Amino acid sequence: MARDERVLRRQARAVQAGLLGAREERVGVVRPLLFTQRGGAGSRHGCAACRASCARGRARDAARRRSPRRGLSLHRRARAPRTGLSPAHRGTHRGRARVLPPRWRPSPRTRGGRCARRAPARASASRGQGARGPVRECRSSSRCRAARARSGSPRARRTRGTARSGPPRCVAGPRAWRRDLVSAAPCARISSAEVLRLYDTRRRETFAFRPRGRTVTMYVCGVTPYDTTHLGHARTFLVFDVLARLLESGGVAVRYAQNVTDVDESILQRAARDGVDWRALGRREERAFLDDMDRLGWRRPDVMPHATREIPTMRGLIDQLIARGAAYRLEGSVYFSVARAPHYGELSRYSRAKMRRILAEQDDARLDDPRRRDPLDFALWRRVPSGPAWPSRFGAGRPGWHLECSAMALRHLGDHIDIHGGGSDLVYPHHENEIAQSETATGTRPFVTFWLHAGPVRLGGRKMSKSDGNMVFVRDALARGTPQALRLYLLDRHYRRPFDHVEDRLAKARTRAAALADRLAGAPMGPIGGDAATREVLTALEDDLHTERAIRAVERLARRAPPTTLASLAALARTVLGIY
Ligand SMILES: [Zn+2]
Repeated sequence: MARDERVLRRQARAVQAGLLGAREERVGVVRPLLFTQRGGAGSRHGCAACRASCARGRARDAARRRSPRRGLSLHRRARAPRTGLSPAHRGTHRGRARVLPPRWRPSPRTRGGRCARRAPARASASRGQGARGPVRECRSSSRCRAARARSGSPRARRTRGTARSGPPRCVAGPRAWRRDLVSAAPCARISSAEVLRLYDTRRRETFAFRPRGRTVTMYVCGVTPYDTTHLGHARTFLVFDVLARLLESGGVAVRYAQNVTDVDESILQRAARDGVDWRALGRREERAFLDDMDRLGWRRPDVMPHATREIPTMRGLIDQLIARGAAYRLEGSVYFSVARAPHYGELSRYSRAKMRRILAEQDDARLDDPRRRDPLDFALWRRVPSGPAWPSRFGAGRPGWHLECSAMALRHLGDHIDIHGGGSDLVYPHHENEIAQSETATGTRPFVTFWLHAGPVRLGGRKMSKSDGNMVFVRDALARGTPQALRLYLLDRHYRRPFDHVEDRLAKARTRAAALADRLAGAPMGPIGGDAATREVLTALEDDLHTERAIRAVERLARRAPPTTLASLAALARTVLGIY
């Protein structure tokens, strides 16, 4: 088992940034890509060819900064070289990675195709929901015009959720950069399988995912460390782990932030019960959480901000909300006025009565002042009778939980986030309140393009939770099997569906993982190329992250596929799914 853990760690730990310690508060960290390492600033490499390549890269990046091309399409899995370096030099560069992977550029192999040469990537004028991400467009090529005329159906395929204007377009998808597609069909259309599609909770529909910038920003609500990591935590974070790995395997840079709520009523209560310092309890449990997740091969977030170290940011956000008239002071506390958020309730779509019912069941409801203007108003800053408190111009107190995530997300990822995730139990009030605070403070809407929520893990029909005490711990599950087996087990159901823990299925997952390891053992780690096996697995993942279909495909193909495809399957199973 120790060897299995080492294998996973080696694959997932491309980045060790933003962990415990001073570095976690870095802003604007340029993190090396999972795969792509190209010489740049700080490159140690000295050969003339590579220096020239680095210089060209710097010039290109400078040009891009002057005129940023925003909104990359995903998954340009052309078999072009990943780097501008010769294969012999690849991996030797440890310079700062470019956020735009070189695979974006048409490879020399595709330049014979007219579309490839004549179709510059265009930035869409508008962004956000309903905006069209850049696609390879080709309007002027005579071959393309002829192909459109022949097809008799000039309308290019558009994905749902995209705006449309102007004349019909010929759209060639990311994978059309492969030479076979380009040469066979000058204006190959995108099929649904070639675009990552994700379900957005706010819009209640599945849309093509188009990041707004060169780097995909992803924020996931993290843990309140006061107890051991259970399968519910692990499943939620593994879903976003696979999503980040999938994006990075397509050559897209990801900036992933996940908070640690290291001061909270539940921590304080547990510390008081156990007679330990609340800080020591938080640190101990956080380290245990990171250790458990490391054993599972978790791709750690690039930044893990802690609530207690972001207090100045939170106070600043409160000031902004007060200045905009969206917050009011009440006896040393500050409340957000939901009446000032016109879209309040759009995420959960709950009635006021249901919201009030849920709020009444919350642990910290008793801390709220009944004199609020509206019972749905929530605390941004609370005056607390006892326990740790921080000074502010409103009086000593503690920040509200919802405010923490807004402040950290805005600080570390900016006014707009591509993907915001968490458990489905966070939709209301936590994420609803996050939207209200963030959009009101920044004036930017939407705050998040895609809200992704993972279904709960249940035991005996009840949600596995610390508060109910019905938990199966990750370390207990790992004691009886490999991390690959536990990943396979937890990812073997679509992330939006509830997951019922059954010991028999976990035992079966161990057998399945062992069989997969046997079949793929000895297979070289090949590129995630354009073969049929790769396509089938990726199609499942790109369709709203159907990990269970992807896993079944990997297992079936590993049993039946010719040995030539095992290399790409092995790479997919290890680098994207982490089950081998
Ligand atoms: Zn949160």
